[in-house]
Amino acid sequence: MSDEKSKFLLSENDLPKQWYNIRADMPVADTPVLNPQTKEPITAEFLNVLFPMSLIEQEMSKERYIDIPEEVREIYKLWRPTPLKRARRLEKALGTPAHIYYKDEGASISGSHKGNTAVAQAFYNKIDGTKSLTTETGAGQWGSALAVACNFFDMDLEVFMVKSSYHHKPYRRIIIESFNAAIYPSPSDQSEYGKQYLKEHPDSPGSLGIAISEAVETAVKSNGKKKYSLGSVLNHVLLHQSVIGQECLKQMEMADEYPDVVIGCVGGGSNFGGVAFPFLHQNLTEGHTTRLVAVEPTATPTLTKGLYAFDYGDTAKMAPILKMFTLGHDFIPAPIHAGGLRYHGMAPQICMLYEAGYIEAVAVPQPATFAAAMQFAQAEGIIPAPESAHAIRAAIDEALDAKEKGEARVILFNLSGHGLLDLAAYDSYLRGEVGDSTFEITKDEIRKNLPKVDVM
Ligand SMILES: *Cc1c(COP(=O)(O)O)cnc(C)c1O
Repeated sequence: MSDEKSKFLLSENDLPKQWYNIRADMPVADTPVLNPQTKEPITAEFLNVLFPMSLIEQEMSKERYIDIPEEVREIYKLWRPTPLKRARRLEKALGTPAHIYYKDEGASISGSHKGNTAVAQAFYNKIDGTKSLTTETGAGQWGSALAVACNFFDMDLEVFMVKSSYHHKPYRRIIIESFNAAIYPSPSDQSEYGKQYLKEHPDSPGSLGIAISEAVETAVKSNGKKKYSLGSVLNHVLLHQSVIGQECLKQMEMADEYPDVVIGCVGGGSNFGGVAFPFLHQNLTEGHTTRLVAVEPTATPTLTKGLYAFDYGDTAKMAPILKMFTLGHDFIPAPIHAGGLRYHGMAPQICMLYEAGYIEAVAVPQPATFAAAMQFAQAEGIIPAPESAHAIRAAIDEALDAKEKGEARVILFNLSGHGLLDLAAYDSYLRGEVGDSTFEITKDEIRKNLPKVDVM
């Protein structure tokens, strides 16, 4: 029967030709980005030490739509458009009248949404003359996506991988090496900051903040030979991820439905921004009232328990200062399995919209998140990334709430990646070894280490 469709597939011709830029429609005032040394608003010149001019222009652009270069679209076509699926078996298992849809970004060449920006960033660096990139990676998703992209554009890459993941998640390290990138466990002896940190904390498991510092230092000290690349948080990254939500808009139309709620997990905010901003555009311009829900772990409750303040993007205070919800740049998160959600801050665009009430946030605990992942896997046959499982937890909770209220709610969540390289985490869960981790911090404790800035 035609109304029993479970997959909504677009053709390559439907691949978006432009990225959608939320800055054109931002309903709240922009917050400034500050130079970490002077605490003055950042200049393009300072940013150019780290990023190519073409990406800096995108970072600052207020154009509503930005053309996707043909070279980037050609590579996107290796996996895009990704399928939108209706989780009919999960709906049945839950006995809910809700309709649950998910966008399968795990169907990408590196297994997550991160390729959407990796390919774009590698391309723009290439045309601006960059020969070599540096970056950090947590669980290895970003490092592997950028390694593939750099390999396509024939560029060198150095990856600083959070040490606990480097040792516990060898498979993504091997992927990164397969695409000819160099990879170091961070803190490492490859940077001055890493050496100094190791001296003071020889047993440090590392953190994204430390790894960012090492990658930034390596680019800054290269005399222009190397640029730095970030897989989340910044405006241009969220811009590139807008292909997700734009495709969803078309696919929901094919399904002849419109979501009441759009859900995504948040680490730095890029997959959530990618799926949610095109729907926010509809809310702002077409009078839709879709709820947009960002989901984080209780172990790194950036939006739900952080302080909205100016803070450094990295531990060594070398990266730009951003106004964001933060747990403090020296925050070392508990080693939860969702490595991609352990960043201390959040994309400024997500933060300003959350502060102003345009998006919602919830924090979910680790054991309940794994239980949701298992329920989804057993119904739909896909083992989700532990990060994506946070979105699944919230989607199931929405579906159960709809059941209680007898509502045929339409739920869309982003499955940001598959979990086939995260089986060790599932092994721990199945053995009953996954504990709860709830991080409590007072706003005063966070405030103690913040940069002193005058701009508010
Ligand atoms: C990196 C990652 C995330 C978190 O990053 P965002 O920028 O918040 O999207 C979520 N899911 C997966 C699968 C990831 O690899």
